[in-house]
Amino acid sequence: MDSDPSACVDLHIHTTASDGSFTPPEILRLAHGLNLGAIAITDHDTIDGSRQAIAAGIPAGMGFLTGVEISTERPRFFPGKGSCHILGYRIDLENRALNETLQKLQSARKDRNPLILKRLQKLGFDLTMEEIGRAAGPKGQVGRPHFAQVMLDKGFVATFNAAFDDYLATGKPAYVDKYRVSCPRAIELIREAGGIPVLAHPVLLGTPEGRLEDDMVRELREMGLLGIEAYYTEHSDAHRDHYLDLAERYGLLVTGGSDFHGEFKPRTKLGRGRGDLCVPIALYEALCSHD
Ligand code: AMP
Ligand code: ZN
Ligand code: FE
Ligand code: FE
Repeated sequence: MDSDPSACVDLHIHTTASDGSFTPPEILRLAHGLNLGAIAITDHDTIDGSRQAIAAGIPAGMGFLTGVEISTERPRFFPGKGSCHILGYRIDLENRALNETLQKLQSARKDRNPLILKRLQKLGFDLTMEEIGRAAGPKGQVGRPHFAQVMLDKGFVATFNAAFDDYLATGKPAYVDKYRVSCPRAIELIREAGGIPVLAHPVLLGTPEGRLEDDMVRELREMGLLGIEAYYTEHSDAHRDHYLDLAERYGLLVTGGSDFHGEFKPRTKLGRGRGDLCVPIALYEALCSHD
């Protein structure tokens, strides 16, 4: 494991623009303070976090990539029922089709939140949209983690995760589905915006033993996928090596990151995951030199 932090990068970070607890300028300061070699901000369905970071000014000497994480429909060729997320790097923040689609996804989120609230109220929880909105902050978009946080703060659940396990997770009583783009469309949008589409945290797809079969990777590559997030907080070494092997055999780029959410996922540390993550800076350099 590399001990020099400047040799490590973190290419999967959430900010207050989605469901992280730190603002983009705060993330820049924290990452710079940790001496990370480079970061990317990858908020759910929004590029406002990347915008705010650039507006704040990237600290000299630290690399930065624009980013996004799009929640997509789950392609039928994946067995199981976990979530399919596509990361996009080096995207043109002004791309029109991407901005329009992200707007649509954000308004789908806005429509969904009152429905989640109504379900929780029906279950007997005393909650208001105002409280949930306050948890998201003035610039953020509301997501399920904000519901979970308020439920925890008000003592309705014993832990943040229990709010998901008992109420908010897929199939639980307060779960409400939302509009998503298809996986191939997300990949295409990112490519059209000049970016590099990457399959996020493959272990969370929930396939048997977290494995991706060769035919799944072939299908994704045919859709235009260019990379796999092999380094990830919740990947065991065996998972990481499995994804590295697939990436090598199918000529895909490799990325990695912590999926930092700040206080909403306090066990996951910026740049370090559970403490031992180091995403090699060479992966960042390969993304930069990809054309
Ligand atoms: P949303 O964007 O509102 O669908 O919420 C997605 C976020 O909720 C993810 O980024 C995770 O941080 C969090 N999340 C989803 N499922 C779970 C779960 N089962 N336990 C804890 N957090 C979860
Ligand atoms: Zn999140
Ligand atoms: Fe994700
Ligand atoms: Fe994420």
